[in-house]
Amino acid sequence: MNAPASLLTRKADFPGLVAAEGQPWHYLDTAATAQKPQAVIDAMSNALGRDYATVHRGVYSRSAEMTQAYEAARRRVAEFIGARSENEIVFVRGATEGINLVAQSWGGLNLKAGDRIMLSQLEHHSNIVPWQMIAQQTGAEIDVCPLTEDHLIDLGALEQMLTPQHKIVALAHVSNVLGSILGVKRAAKLAHNVGAKLLLDGCQAAPRMRLNMQELDCDFYVLSAHKLYGPTGIGVLWAREELLDTMPPYQGGGAMIDSVTFEKTTYAPPPQRFEAGTPMITEAVAMHAAIDYVDALNLESLFAHESGLATTLRNELRTINSIRLFGPEKSAGIVSFEMEGVHPHDLGTILDEENVAIRAGHHCAQPLMTHLGVPATARASFGLYSDESDIDALLRGIERTKRIFGQ
Ligand code: PMP
Repeated sequence: MNAPASLLTRKADFPGLVAAEGQPWHYLDTAATAQKPQAVIDAMSNALGRDYATVHRGVYSRSAEMTQAYEAARRRVAEFIGARSENEIVFVRGATEGINLVAQSWGGLNLKAGDRIMLSQLEHHSNIVPWQMIAQQTGAEIDVCPLTEDHLIDLGALEQMLTPQHKIVALAHVSNVLGSILGVKRAAKLAHNVGAKLLLDGCQAAPRMRLNMQELDCDFYVLSAHKLYGPTGIGVLWAREELLDTMPPYQGGGAMIDSVTFEKTTYAPPPQRFEAGTPMITEAVAMHAAIDYVDALNLESLFAHESGLATTLRNELRTINSIRLFGPEKSAGIVSFEMEGVHPHDLGTILDEENVAIRAGHHCAQPLMTHLGVPATARASFGLYSDESDIDALLRGIERTKRIFGQ
């Protein structure tokens, strides 16, 4: 499987992909966080140095320029994910904060005792715990949609389970553990048929798939910039303006108000209503650079590249007796497995000695681990810079592990 030339040359853009003494570092943990291209590092560095100033309040030219750059980032995100307007883009600290915002603001307003929240068995803790918190506060209850045998969210079961009591369905677009891809259009139809809203956790989809909010037909979408080759500390909540407009603020403070007296405060319209305090100025500018970088690569070929690497790795791992694979055959560049007799942490440590970085653990998805019947998995996840040399290095490390464990 050959990667398009535009992708193969990309390793050199990522200064982080080098281990000690100039050796290649086989980074297979992109699902946790992506390495950053030099263009993003430069954008962040310029925003923190040469161009630095606050936004929105300054009357001096540097601040006006920074405000323009910050708002240009919002427009760029809107364009990138096919939003109708930049007013649909709320900058948050990351996907986690985006989901908490929706749970507290929308959920606080719309959920009551007797209502139900639908999640799935494969959700990340950040798409479980915020719902548990608002369920406790409102008396709403949570249901869990099961998985199919090949570890996709079971939309047949979802159809059976959904009732008019369900007010929100919150699902991962792509699973961070298994790479399973949700059938979004059907999920949206099923949720809307019973009058529920659909929230999609797009953390793993945004770096791998072309998104179009108007076509996806969901109601809320969240993503984190650090998984999209951008900086930590910033992410996006998308929702239609009409929906955001119905929602009360999540946090109070500067920048989210219209006017303040001790008697009464009125709030700014969205998205400012949800961006209390000095925002992530430099992060927004660097996220803009990350989107420019990824968009220039063509997301369709990027998806084919990463899912092709996942298929290659799955086929190789299948030939090793002691390995058990999880997840569907067609995965969005994420492969989870366990090695009989070897704890994933031991495997991870041995691989680290070979400059191979995989993830070992529950991946913030403990209910999924329970379902799989394991405490942890080993996970290799690919990024746009991954190639077959990374798979070869992983397989060499697994062979060495087998020898160490006498297999
Ligand atoms: N959802 C999924 C599917 C994820 O992979 C992650 C990050 N591992 C999150 C949510 C949380 O993202 P963040 O920590 O950036 O808020």
